[in-house]
Order: sequence, then C-alpha cells, then structure tokens
Amino acid sequence: MRETRIRKTKTVCTYCGVGCSFEMWTVGRKILKVQPKPESPANGISTCVKGKFGWDFVNSPDRLTEPLIRDGDRFRMASWDEALDLIASRLREIKEKYGPDAIEFIASSKGTNEEAYLVQKLARQVFGTNNVDNSSRFCQAPATTGLWRTVGYGGDAGSISDLYVSDLILAVGTNTAESHPVIATRIKRAHKLNGQKIIVADLRMHEMARRADVFIHPRPGTDLVWINAVAKYIVDQGWQAREFIEKRVNFYDEYVKSLEPFTLEFAEKVSGVSADDIRKIATMIHEAKSMAVIWAMGVTQHQAGSDTSTALSNLLLLTGNYGRPGTGGYPLRGHNNVQGASDFGAMSAYLPGYQSVSDEKARKKIEEYWKCQIPDKPGYDNNTCLEAINSDRIRAMYVVGEELVETGSDSEYIRKQLEKLDFLVVEDMFLSETAKYADVVLPAAASVEKEGTFVNTERRIQRIYRVMEPLGNSRPDWQIIQDVANRLGAGWNYRHPSEIMQEVSKIAPIFAGVSYERLEGFGSLQWPVSDGGKDTPLLYTDRFNFPDGKARFYPLKYSPPLTVDQEFDLHLNNGRILEHFHEGNETYRSPGLKEKVPGTFVEVSPELAAERGLKDGDLVRITSKWGSIKVRVLVTDRVSGKELYMPMNSGGDSAVNNLTSRLMDPTAHTPAYKELPVKMEKI
Ligand code: SF4
Repeated sequence: MRETRIRKTKTVCTYCGVGCSFEMWTVGRKILKVQPKPESPANGISTCVKGKFGWDFVNSPDRLTEPLIRDGDRFRMASWDEALDLIASRLREIKEKYGPDAIEFIASSKGTNEEAYLVQKLARQVFGTNNVDNSSRFCQAPATTGLWRTVGYGGDAGSISDLYVSDLILAVGTNTAESHPVIATRIKRAHKLNGQKIIVADLRMHEMARRADVFIHPRPGTDLVWINAVAKYIVDQGWQAREFIEKRVNFYDEYVKSLEPFTLEFAEKVSGVSADDIRKIATMIHEAKSMAVIWAMGVTQHQAGSDTSTALSNLLLLTGNYGRPGTGGYPLRGHNNVQGASDFGAMSAYLPGYQSVSDEKARKKIEEYWKCQIPDKPGYDNNTCLEAINSDRIRAMYVVGEELVETGSDSEYIRKQLEKLDFLVVEDMFLSETAKYADVVLPAAASVEKEGTFVNTERRIQRIYRVMEPLGNSRPDWQIIQDVANRLGAGWNYRHPSEIMQEVSKIAPIFAGVSYERLEGFGSLQWPVSDGGKDTPLLYTDRFNFPDGKARFYPLKYSPPLTVDQEFDLHLNNGRILEHFHEGNETYRSPGLKEKVPGTFVEVSPELAAERGLKDGDLVRITSKWGSIKVRVLVTDRVSGKELYMPMNSGGDSAVNNLTSRLMDPTAHTPAYKELPVKMEKI
C-alpha cells in the first residue's frame, strides 16, 4: 500500500565531521524536509546546504539494487546467495594459497561504527590479518599522530561549543566555512559578539581568511617553520606557561633546544611569513586567556603532516592551552564517521578503542573474547597496501563504501593495482569507479536506510534511525559483512547494531559505558565513557593520556616539501567546496547541489591569468609528473601569484587525483596531496 503518512525520523548528516543531527520528514521514500532541533547536540538549529539539500541521491536511478558478478568485461545480476558464496569461496582459496596477509580490508568512513567494527573483526578474527584501514589514512591520520605524540588521545580536545568561548582561534590549513560550515558559524558569532580574535594561515583568501584579525599566507608546505618560530619567540620573551609546563609537561628542555634554528630570519626566509607577523601572532597568543587551534588537510596532506600537527600541539602545551574550555587542538574531521571508523578499530595498527596490536594484554583480552589469534604487528594500510599489490604480496581486497580510485592519490597507479588483484569485492550504493574493477559488487543501503551510530569530530557518539527501507535488494553493510563472515564459519549472530555496540563496550575501555539506551533519540556521549555512563566533553582537565598523566613536548626538525621547478612552475592546491562532498558520488546525484555547482574548475589568480592570457571558462591542460587533466578556468583573487586551486570534488578525467603523487607522510602514510608542482597550458 502506498505510504501517505508523514514520518519524522532522527538521523545524522553524512557530509562532514560536524555531525549535525536532525529530523528527516518523509512520506514513503520522498524526503520532504530536514529539520534540525534545538536538542541537536552538535548543531542546534543549524545545518548547511549539504545537510539540507543533499539527500536526493538515495532515490537516484543509479542506485545498485541487486548484487553484481563480473562476467568478462561486463557485470551480470546475481542472487545474494550466489554472490556471497562466491566471495566466501574465493577469499578462502586466496587465504589458503597465499596466507591471511594477502587480503586487504577497507572499512567505510561514511558507514556506521558498528560496520567499521565488523570489517576489522572480519579481517582479524575470521582471516587473521591486521590488513584493515579506513580513509582517515587519506586525511587526518597525521593530526592523530601529532596528538598521540604530545597529549595521548587522537581526538578533539573539547566540544564544538567550547570554541565559542575561546579568546583566540588559530586556524591553519582549514577552509572551515566551506568544509565544516556549522563550526565556522559558531566562530563567526563568537568573533562578532564575544570579541574573539581569529588568526588564519592558509594559501587561499577564503571566507574566514577575509574576516580574520590576522591572515598569513605561508609558502606551501612550510607551516612547521613559522609555527616553531612563533614558539621560539614566545620562549625568548619568557611568555611560556611556566607553572603549567612544570606540573604537566615532560621534555621541555629538549623542545626548547629543538627550537633554536627557528629564528625570525630563518622563518621569514623559508616560509615567507614576515618577522612582524610572527611577533604579532606570538603576542596575540600571549595576550589571549585561551586559544584553540583548528586545522585540517591544508596541514595534514603533506610529507610533514604529522610533524606540523605535532608543532601545533607543542605550541598549545607551551602556552598552557589544554584542559580548559576554549583551549586545545581540534583537527576537524572530514568524513562524518572518519573518527568513528578509527575509534572502532578499522586501523592496521589499532584494535577497537586505540589499543595497539602490539599491546599484548589488550590483544590477549580481545583474542579471548573473539576466540582467535591476532597478529602482533600492524598490517598494510589504505596506502601501503597499493605497493603490496604491486609486489604481489596482496592478492585480494574487500572494500566497503570507499571510492579509492578518485580519493586516493595518483589515480592511474591505483587503477593499475586494482586491475592486478586476483579478487576484488566492493560494497557500495553506486557502481563507483572502484566498483568497476570489482569481481563482485554488493548493493549497500544508504545511512537513512539503516540503524547504527556515528562519532563526529568532537568524539560525540550519536544514533541514526531507519528513515526508510533499503532500496530494492540493497542491504545494510553490517548485515552483508555478517553474512560473509558466517559463510566462512564465524557463527556471528548480531540481530541489531545495538548488540555490536554491546560487544564493543566490553572490549574497548573508552566505550565501556556506551549503550543504545544512553544514546536514545538526540542523546549522545563523548568518549571516553566510563562504565557508569559518564562521558568526557573536555579532555585533559586533570591528566594527559600517558601513564604518568603528563603531556610530552616532541622536538621536531624541518624537512622541505616538494616545490615548483622550471618545468612544473605552478603550485596546485586542492580541497573542498561547500556544495559537494569528496568525489561527488552522492552530491552530484542531488540536483539541488549539482545545479548550484555542476562541475569542477581551476582557480587562477588575476595576475597569472593576465600573464597567460586566460579568462573565465577557458579550457586548460594541467600536467604534473604523475598525470594530466583538462579543466575550465575560474579567475579569482582567492588565489594569488603562481598558486592554483582545484576542488577535490570531481570524478572522471578532470579529477585532481589524476595529478597527485605517491609521496606520503613517513609516519602516518597519508598522501602528500598538497605538494603538487604542475604546469598549465591553454588548449
Ligand atoms: Fe552539518 Fe557538516 Fe552536514 Fe553541513 S555537511 S549539515 S555542517 S554535518
């Protein structure tokens, strides 16, 4: 019977780490509107254009509704039984022939926590490998490294609402107004009403840069230099937070020694940030009662992403800016559940709740619970697995909802590796570029078609409820993964995602007190959550997450990034725009968003456009050492000089990932997407 009743169901946006929650009004599969509520914990009554108008993809005719099995160059429809049997038998064969480490598992950063947990359990319990990861590898893994080195937890220090009470916001490499719009609105209000000061360091004159009290434009890849110069100037002036450091931080002397090379002159020469600006920034930090640092991929997607993130956290420690509202480090998470996918163990080196695979006590406890043996060494991650495929160490992959081809770095290389695999399984809503290489494609339900939980950027766990039934024969990923595991003899029996969460609460101490009852409706909890259900909106109030409770300064050296040369004479930056999400598989299928921004472009500065005789709409070829694309020009003063900018939100021939390299951060293995010298010619 045709549904005529209006239903209002609570769900959470899947387009960024803010984690806006709202009620979705529907009649059957028709979405009438999205209504945020005052009780929405992260966003109150705000959302952005994507949260409001970005949902039509759920009814797109491109949605997959039946399993597909490769048949030569084409796919044919198959029953669930046939597809699942094939997956189980091929993966079993590959494990027997090449060993468990010949298979890589990728969990989705847009899927639920429970699904990420099951993917890593499938890898570790059923196959016996730590080869599992999620797309945090491609974005904020370096920020997590920086925080682990210095304060012990990889998550945001406090809550989004705490940013409202900061005296000073230092925003580095983040276009917050477009990437995390609701956070930008909070900061805008505090700037207007509370006298909050804003310092922005970025390559582009974006919205937040225009209204900042201080805007600096360092040379690409040199943030570590000016940050350490600010720190050295603070020490030289005697402005460091002596009491805080004495009581709460180790390795101060080593840190101060490491700052010696970062003089004002050196910083000015290398980063292009003037000595005056460095002095001004240091003075503003000194005069502020509280400072929070927000940063994103403008920092992390460099070879020095982990070190620059560490430098920011060092600066916060030096100035006593941890443990109070309005202070601390906030790496702004990109995907809606990139935090949760990592928290719940979809990482090659970490079990659920960031328990290291080399921590024997933690590993044994989980082994006992799962009745299996887990290797004590990290496996291959999202990025290193590609080299492992190239050298025949990995023969099969199981990918849940990730568009590797268009979000990984150096698309051509990724395509070659996917082609090389003996067997590839992809769960997705669409026949993505990655799914086109698969042997079996399984149709996955959308977030509004299932239940589960997400974790947003402020470590907040929230429930999503089923708004509508899965389309056609698509299924929630957690059910699919369970079906695969059981065909391999796992004997799992989860009837609802709440039972998966119950299991996690028993094996991961940071989730000890998490339950679906405590998350009912708009309820939420910020981890760590004690057994009794007490959560932690603000970290580090009395201790840092190290055995002695003290934070650690982490001394750093500067290594120069890849820079332009005579042939590749322009620097190409890339990032988000407001209207689209990543490769656009969802937002380009939502007409309200596609009409607003129908395709990609390259931003060219007015001076470079004049020099090259370019105007809006001209077609140019952009070439790097790794690939070549054609794209239309947009002349704008958001960029300057010989720096270009492209949205990363496009697929196909004009995707910026066709140009990016295999260079990576040596610790976090995050690709250096932002170190990209190119040449440009008019076509
Ligand atoms: Fe909120 Fe981010 Fe979704 Fe916009 S994209 S509605 S800011 S969660």
